[in-house]
Amino acid sequence: MYNSYEEAHKRSLEQPEIFWGKEAEKLHWYQKYDKVLETDYPFFKWFPGGKTNLCYNALDRHALGDKRGTAALIWESPETNQSRVYTYYHLYKEVNRFSGVLKNLGVIKGDRVIIYMPMIPEAIIAMLTCVRIGAIHSVVFAGFSRESLAGRIDDAEPKLLLTCDAGSRMGKVVKLKEIVDDALDLSTKKVGNVVLFNRNLDTTINWVDGRDLDWATLLEEKGMNYVEPEIMDSTDPSYILYTSGTTGKPKGVLRDTGGYMVALHATMKQIYDCEPERDVYFSTSDIGWVVGHSYIVYAPLLLGIPTVLFEGTPVYPNPDAWWRVIEKYGVTVVFSAPTAFRILKKFPEKWMKSRDLSSIRYFFLAGEPTDVPTYEWGTETLKVKIIDHYWQTESGSPMLTNNPGIEFLPTKPGSPTKSAMGWDLIVVDEKGKELPAGEKGFLVGRFPLPPGNLLTVYGDDERYKQTYWEVFPGRLYNTGDYAIRDSDGYFWVLGRADEVIKIAGHRLGTREIEEAVSSHDAVAETTCVGVDDKLKGTVVIAFVVLRQGIQPTEELKKEIIQIVRDNVGPIAAPKAVEVVTMLPKTRSGKIMRRILKGVYENKDLGDLSTIEDGVSIDEVSSAINLMKTDLGKE
Ligand code: AMP
Repeated sequence: MYNSYEEAHKRSLEQPEIFWGKEAEKLHWYQKYDKVLETDYPFFKWFPGGKTNLCYNALDRHALGDKRGTAALIWESPETNQSRVYTYYHLYKEVNRFSGVLKNLGVIKGDRVIIYMPMIPEAIIAMLTCVRIGAIHSVVFAGFSRESLAGRIDDAEPKLLLTCDAGSRMGKVVKLKEIVDDALDLSTKKVGNVVLFNRNLDTTINWVDGRDLDWATLLEEKGMNYVEPEIMDSTDPSYILYTSGTTGKPKGVLRDTGGYMVALHATMKQIYDCEPERDVYFSTSDIGWVVGHSYIVYAPLLLGIPTVLFEGTPVYPNPDAWWRVIEKYGVTVVFSAPTAFRILKKFPEKWMKSRDLSSIRYFFLAGEPTDVPTYEWGTETLKVKIIDHYWQTESGSPMLTNNPGIEFLPTKPGSPTKSAMGWDLIVVDEKGKELPAGEKGFLVGRFPLPPGNLLTVYGDDERYKQTYWEVFPGRLYNTGDYAIRDSDGYFWVLGRADEVIKIAGHRLGTREIEEAVSSHDAVAETTCVGVDDKLKGTVVIAFVVLRQGIQPTEELKKEIIQIVRDNVGPIAAPKAVEVVTMLPKTRSGKIMRRILKGVYENKDLGDLSTIEDGVSIDEVSSAINLMKTDLGKE
């Protein structure tokens, strides 16, 4: 259709109506939209007037069409030693049955339903059921604390909460219902009912009479064979997903229906280069994150291909847990995070080499920058194309990416390539003035944004305006990231803008220093932060985790400082290199620099349970304690 990336991208910006209109025609609409795009800055509506249903497009279209017997959902759970495959028809039937249950419980269009469940098929059935009947789901990552869950309950005010007795992590039972009970005690808003899917992992659950209902019993009593999909406006919300905020009220990204559906369906071709009958998609993320929403659940189903739902970690029971699944199902496209690659890199290659991974065509990574050594390790050991791409909860689909389904541009390791279709990303200074190639600045996107982007912040249009559109003048969407565009038009994301280290009038993205530190052979992982210094204002401290068996000598620390001096410049040279055993990370793999800075400056970290970014408090607390011991700051 398009001969080159440049041609397609230009068309997507200059004639969005034609570009996205063609994509929308590939899906089912009960009533065609009046227009492709309508703007009312800083709001935009995709396909206004159009009537559709996300579940119809993801399931009915295939189950009642030519994919009745095609595998839709492949569930693998090394945690519980189970696996199951649902065809499109089977999944469609399950969703209809559960739709009967929710309808009978009085859930109607526009009601919010919180889903606090692990990576099991019932969680996906619940999501699809909500969008079928027009309810707005809000999936809360099942590793979140009771405080985080309570905050989301208070913000979303759900009619219903769906959960499980327990999840499992590295073979250990995680009691979810207990967390739900505590969260409901803490929250000021109350839910009508809690529906519990009992996996019999926790035999000690406490049933609250009148509030708690058993999933299986409800299905038997109230399940229906067929429930008509709710006819939704294209601009009706499909879900709320809370993003990592550092403090205060959780920020609910509100997603539309039609624009999201069109964007996801289109990206399966443009970016992931997938086709029905050929591809099997495996995203290793979690349904609690945006990647899980978009690329475990909706996008593969919209295209009509099998999607893998994996309950576990890459290393349990052995470090070949993913490779086994890829071999078993002939997975063709994998989507994961660099942090997982770095974990797997620590194990002997025999775990990977003993499996047939020849079915893989692409390995996509997102969530944080893919450093060059990780990129090279992946390329050499897996012998596949590794594609780094960049996006956010807000965007719903990639913002910077290579587009092999249109044209595969030459890879520059460490760069997520160029703007995705419909994105006009640029690098600007503080006043919103575009900077020339090669200059560092703030990464922003020109209005309007492509389909699938957030409608607003749930219940808070003012916050939407302030956070995203009022930071820079000139109708520019604030990504919150610091970046550079090179003379070939490739982007390099240098870190979060609010973590930029300012030294002697220079601004350094955390990544610039981290790349240099991690190029030392002894370094397994690193993160660098700017800390207050009485003399210099700010100095850089490099925290490093060394490779197994390497001793932290003074000589080694000097070498690391010298590398930064040589590669980045003397002003960036760390004042100290602190060797630690572990770095505190969110469950989605992001390093919590704020915490590192706090520990180093010996500041009171406050109540960790209020951290709103998907953190497992226990894991972070133990990383902090280890660090305090390492640094002698007990
Ligand atoms: P979240 O909304 O939690 O998914 O986080 C989005 C943020 O993760 C972005 O704003 C970036 O800071 C970071 N991020 C995601 N993907 C990449 C990538 N490929 N390269 C660099 N940073 C990334």
